[in-house]
Formats: sequence, structure tokens, C-alpha cells
Amino acid sequence: SKKIIIVGGVAGGSTAAARLRRLDEQAEIILLEKGPYISFANCGLPYYIGETIQDRNKLLVQTAEGMSARYNMQVRTSNEVTAIDRSAKSITVTNLETGETYQESYDELILSPGARPVVPPIQGIQEAEELFTLRSVPDTDRIKTYIDEQHPKHAVVVGGGFIGLEMAENLRERGLDVTIIEMSSQVMGPIDYEMASIIHQHLIDKGIQLILDDGVQAFEDHGRKVITGNGLEINTDMILLSIGVRPENELAKNAGLSIGERGGIQVNDQLQTNDPHIYAIGDAIEVKDYTNGQPTMVPLAWPANRQGRIVADAIYGRKAAYHGTLGTSIAKVFDYTVAATGNNEKTLTKLGVPYDVVHVHPASHAGYYPEAKSIALKLVFDKETGNIYGAQAVGMDGVDKRIDVIATAMKGGLTVMDLPDLELAYAPPYSSAKDPVNMAGYTATNMVEDMTQTVQWHEIDAIAKNGDTLVDVRNPHELEQGYIDGAINIPLDDLRDRLDELPANETIYVYCQAGLRGYIATRILDESGFHTINLDGGWNTYAAAY
Ligand code: FAD
Repeated sequence: SKKIIIVGGVAGGSTAAARLRRLDEQAEIILLEKGPYISFANCGLPYYIGETIQDRNKLLVQTAEGMSARYNMQVRTSNEVTAIDRSAKSITVTNLETGETYQESYDELILSPGARPVVPPIQGIQEAEELFTLRSVPDTDRIKTYIDEQHPKHAVVVGGGFIGLEMAENLRERGLDVTIIEMSSQVMGPIDYEMASIIHQHLIDKGIQLILDDGVQAFEDHGRKVITGNGLEINTDMILLSIGVRPENELAKNAGLSIGERGGIQVNDQLQTNDPHIYAIGDAIEVKDYTNGQPTMVPLAWPANRQGRIVADAIYGRKAAYHGTLGTSIAKVFDYTVAATGNNEKTLTKLGVPYDVVHVHPASHAGYYPEAKSIALKLVFDKETGNIYGAQAVGMDGVDKRIDVIATAMKGGLTVMDLPDLELAYAPPYSSAKDPVNMAGYTATNMVEDMTQTVQWHEIDAIAKNGDTLVDVRNPHELEQGYIDGAINIPLDDLRDRLDELPANETIYVYCQAGLRGYIATRILDESGFHTINLDGGWNTYAAAY
């Protein structure tokens, strides 16, 4: 029978171990974890600090004892693997409690060592006393104990990714004032700027001090003062560093396994490294971007869990392969949900891939049923083929299911023309008879079929300045919230009677609140012989970004 060793006992490692046992009662399975716990809920850690999750034990999804008992395997916590001898097929392990070092042989080795928070050599970082990163249960205990016992009043969160934003919310829950410092022009990398802008406003509304386009230059006064590149000085009681993670690749690197450009362990679709007896999964590996085929790193829990199962199947010769990662992700940011799947505009621009975009703002469920909330939903696709590159959504309700439906459509190879055809569950409390995903599909299909031409939110100001005709087809009272400089107002319902006010031989740009009335206006005008272009996403998308 096989002897299989797994390095790392949390998301990927535990999943692989359990599946291995279900496939083979005889195998000798050893799970080695350098930390004190296996199979803990990484994703729940911020919510324990914020006290939405109150019972610490709830974070410990499976214990070493529980796992050994159910799966008849050796689970050794506080055991760190420090070297791999590939020719001897053996590893060196240090028992961190006793200091003892020993060798363990293997037939197959699975690496699931995860990733670690990036801690750059910023001036004063060594002396910063209350500086934290969040990855493990001990990290969580440190942060929570500090808050419980020292009652800090202010925190600086460095980095506006999902861990940074989740922590900002949870620190706010605990009564702290929070400053977020983000180097780029937006939080939440997986979505594009105009979508993130909705979150920027919301963070400010929730009392967060949001600093964009600026980075930490130095920590002074033992971390009680943060100096930014733009010269801001922020006094604080604690710092959370959440600027991303790096794959734990030392073991693999030292063993001569091939490593990608950005540090991820390279594997084939069987999750096998360049050593056929060593496999690697989870945050530590480089994966293929499912949308564009390029190598990438996606440190999320779904890939780790999926790969955990596939690697066990692969070791036992079962038909299994990992086809790449879409990067479907979601986060709660106070009252909003932000979710995305596939590629965004930034990624496609970097790759030089041409794409088209639609923004729609449908209600999460029937508008006449209470509590309907508008969803900002964006599709990125190829107008020539209808191929879906990605989707992003921001809203207070129903965001999760729309992104999940589109992620499913993408894995199923559906195009934007298939989205109107998805027959989705509807009753007024849940959706509309045309679901937001259907609406996005109709809007994109109109572009594929050349029923409409659009401009984007970032293009319209230049067009208006240029003196082109821009018609705001909203009702006059809607203009009170603002309008685009240079626009003339002709409400949609008056348009047919006022055609003579429009120039016959120029392109006419139109916009409304969310894009739909603008589209109707383009149809009326085009049928009357005009050439029109609609502002995609309307005033909503435009205004969010400014
Ligand atoms: P891990 O689960 O991190 O497990 C790796 C383990 O290997 C670690 O416990 C480590 O101690 C151990 N190890 C490393 N080196 C050695 C060694 N040499 N010897 C022995 N043991 C070793 N993902 C989502 O999809 N959704 C979320 O909402 C989400 N929220 C998150 C919130 C937080 C605060 C964090 C930190 C992560 C979150 N993630 C989330 C990411 C998700 O937790 C990871 O993608 C997932 O845990 C990766 O699994 P893994 O097995 O690769 O690594």
C-alpha cells in the first residue's frame, strides 16, 4: 500500500487527506501541519475578531483528534517540514514542540503549504509594535486579544483587498476608527474602477477614512504614526498589513521543483510538479487563468478545495484534471456585496485583448415588492463571438447569485446570447421575470446584433466638450441629482414630438439613469434616420465613477 504525506493541514491539505482515505482504506496517510490547528476557517477569522462569530471553537472546523479518528490517519500539528530529499523520497520534519528533527519517507508527497502575507521592508516596520497580519488562528488571537485588552481607538489598514476591507468593517464593528491606505486608485482589485467607486463612497459613508493613490512611506514612533508617500501623517493604535500574499514556495524551491515567474509552484493538470511523486495544490501553486489561459495565482478557498479532491483522484489514477481558475470571488463590505468572476477590463487591457462592456442596474427583485435594491452588474465580453470574459456586481441584495449564475455560464461555455435564455427562478421577493442576468444578456446581445452602439462612462465628457449633441432623456426632476455638462434635456416620452430639435447629420449621444431608456431613445431615433450612441450604464455608472 501507498504511503502518502501531506504538507499543510488546512484548506487544501485536509480535503486531500480525507479524499485519499475514502479512496483507499489501506494507505498510510500522514498530515503534517506546522501550526497548532488543522482545518480551521481562515475565511471566518475577520468575523471572529469583529464578534459576529462569538465562539472561537466554531473556527476550528475539524480537530487533529477528530480527523485522526474519522479517517484513520496520523495528524501531526506543530510539525514543520523543512526539506525534501527527492532522490531518497523522504522529508525532514521538525517537531516544533520538542525541537526534535526526524525523517519520514513517502511514496507520494502533496504540498499544500498555502501563502503568507506580504510584509515589505518599509522603514520602521521592525520597530512597529502593534503591527499585525492575518492568516492563522494565532494571528487572530493576537489581534483580538489586543483589541479586547488594550481598547485601541484607531487602526490603519494597509491594503484595500478583500481581507483589508473585511477587517476594516470588523474593526469598525468593534468601535475603532479606521483609515484604509491603498496604493492604487481603487479598492477590490477583481473589479474595475467605476464599480469599485460605489464601494469607495460606501466606505466613506460608514465613517472610514479612505486614502487612495498613496502608500506607506514609513512607520514612526514604534508604529504609532504612519507616514504616507504623499506626506500624510496618521496617528494610530494599531496597523493591519493586508497588501497581498506570496506563495509558500521555499520547500519546493529548495527541492528544485519548478517555480513560475511570480513564485507559484508549477503543476500540470493532474496537479503534479516536475517530480512525478510530488504534487502541489492551493495558494502555493500557479494555475491557468480559465478565461485567458495565462499562468496566474488565485489564492482562494474554492480552488484549494477542488484541487484537494482532484489531487487524491489523480494519485489513484482516477480520471481527474484541474482545468484552471476563473477567480470567482465575493466579499461583504458593510451593507454592500462585491463579487466578480473571470477577467476584468484591467486584465484584458494588460493582455491586449479587445473586449466590449455593458453595465446594467436592475433591481435585485421586483420593484413593487419591498426592499428591492439596485444591482450594478457589468459584463465584459467579445462582441464578435459573444464569448463572456467576466462579470462584476456590486449591490446590497442578490449579488451573489447573479455572479454565481454567470460563473456557471462561463464554465458551461455559454455566450452572452445564451444569457437571456437562462430560465431562472422567479417570484417577486427573489427576482423579476427578466432576471438581472437575463437583462445583462439582452443588453450585450443588442450589441452583438448591432442593435445599439454605446460609449463608456470615461469617454462621454470628452464627447460633450467636443460640442457633440448629448441628450439626457430623463425626466426633469431626475436632473436634480446632477447631469452631464453640455447635455440637453428631452424626456424620453417627449422625444418623438421633438425630433426637429436634433441635428440630422451628426451622431447624437443619449443617456438616461441606468441605460435602458437611453437604449429605447436610440431605437426611436435610429428608426427616424438618426445615428445614435447610448451611454452604457447611464448616469448611475457615470456618477459613481466621479
Ligand atoms: P492554507 O489553508 O493556508 O493551509 C496551509 C497550511 O500549511 C498552513 O496552515 C501552514 O501553517 C501550513 N504549512 C506551510 N508550510 C508548512 C511546512 N513547511 N510544514 C508544515 N506545514 C506547513 N478565500 C475565499 O475563497 N473566500 C474567503 O472569504 C476567504 N477569506 C479569507 C480570509 C482570511 C483572513 C484569509 C487569511 C484567507 C481567506 N481566504 C478566503 C483564502 C483561503 O483561506 C485560502 O485560499 C485557502 O486557505 C488556501 O488553502 P491552502 O491549503 O493552499 O492553504
